[in-house]
Amino acid sequence: MSLTLIIGPMKSGKSLELISLIAPFEYTKKRVAMVQPVKNVRDSNVESRLGLKRAAQKVTSLSEFSAQADVIGIDEIHMFPRTDISVLKAWLLDGRELLVSGLDLDYQGRLIPMIADILTLKPELIIDKKAVCEICGEYDGRFTTITHDGKRIRRGLPHVVPEDGTYVFGVACRQCFFG
Ligand SMILES: [Zn+2]
Repeated sequence: MSLTLIIGPMKSGKSLELISLIAPFEYTKKRVAMVQPVKNVRDSNVESRLGLKRAAQKVTSLSEFSAQADVIGIDEIHMFPRTDISVLKAWLLDGRELLVSGLDLDYQGRLIPMIADILTLKPELIIDKKAVCEICGEYDGRFTTITHDGKRIRRGLPHVVPEDGTYVFGVACRQCFFG
């Protein structure tokens, strides 16, 4: 059993990483499944912005996931209820291979509670992705910003904001995020 955590800002290729890490298991005798939150309205599969995709079961809580699987990929983990950490823990102790991806920091740069909880399970591997900063153009974007009508929102929103088109998500490097 092992736990792989893929983190990073928006548009950093987390889903691409997840799909490519899970792909080799499809050729083993292990049963492979992918899960994503119903809240994710961007796509019906787990889908990378580069076009790679894989079918996924949509659930509102990991406790609803019913497939018999030895290897489970979970996209957008930050969108699941925090109580689902107990499901992750049980799956790990049950000997399953977990590959999990999600946003680590919210729009204020705070660690999202679900990710903090996952860190306490001590992932064997943490892959920290970066993206291109949309403010200065450097390939060092590690933070996610939220704007509305072109203005950056700095307070008043929950840790996790659905991608339903209300807000625009962006990427910023440390300098641009705090500047
Ligand atoms: Zn920048």
